Amino acid sequence: MLSVLLVLGLVIGLMVYLSPTLDLGNVQRTVTPDRMDGVPGSGGEGYTFMQVTDDGSPITWPCDEVIEIEVNPQGAPDGYADLVAGAVGRLNEVSGFTFEVTGETDDREFLGRGRGPVLLGWADEAEVPELTGPTAGLGGAAYVIGPGGAARSVGGMVVLDTDLPGFWLGGLDEETVILHELIHVLGLGHSQDPVQLMAAENSGQDELGEGDLAGLAALEEATCG
Ligand SMILES: [Zn+2]
Repeated sequence: MLSVLLVLGLVIGLMVYLSPTLDLGNVQRTVTPDRMDGVPGSGGEGYTFMQVTDDGSPITWPCDEVIEIEVNPQGAPDGYADLVAGAVGRLNEVSGFTFEVTGETDDREFLGRGRGPVLLGWADEAEVPELTGPTAGLGGAAYVIGPGGAARSVGGMVVLDTDLPGFWLGGLDEETVILHELIHVLGLGHSQDPVQLMAAENSGQDELGEGDLAGLAALEEATCG
């Protein structure tokens, strides 16, 4: 049986540092592509955290906050709304987090996210160079770090490659890619275990594995206690 190997998506950690005075109008944004695969050694069996604070806690969204998604339909495939709704529904069902698609936007500032809705859209590698090669998508969160070291996510993005490699091989469906990227938005990095959905390369899995589910539970535990 042909195994379809695809890099499912690299992760851009988007950091927004609060100034020490908590002046929300004066944030700095730094793109850190060196943190694409999660923090080495963080997490647990089958999962890693995308980013951790100085005390090792994963950075994720506030407990019980509805995470709003705005979709930019430019370049989207037919039926994109169903693809997004499908991925959001599956993730909401198995995690303690709640995404909600609140509308559409013409915003294309994928790599400069700050505080606000998660931007979900489609682009090619000319617009988003990180989509070069076999990369099917990118996902990540912007977060703030307070003076005490505590951090929380405040925004983010998912961007899908407009010409996804491998779809014509019948090996991977786009809903699965969106699901993978949304889990990056929640705060999981790539798994070293190739059978998890959060593995960097997809070899046919389209369901969440035990490591993925354990990672989502760990994020919920970290934020909701
Ligand atoms: Zn990924």
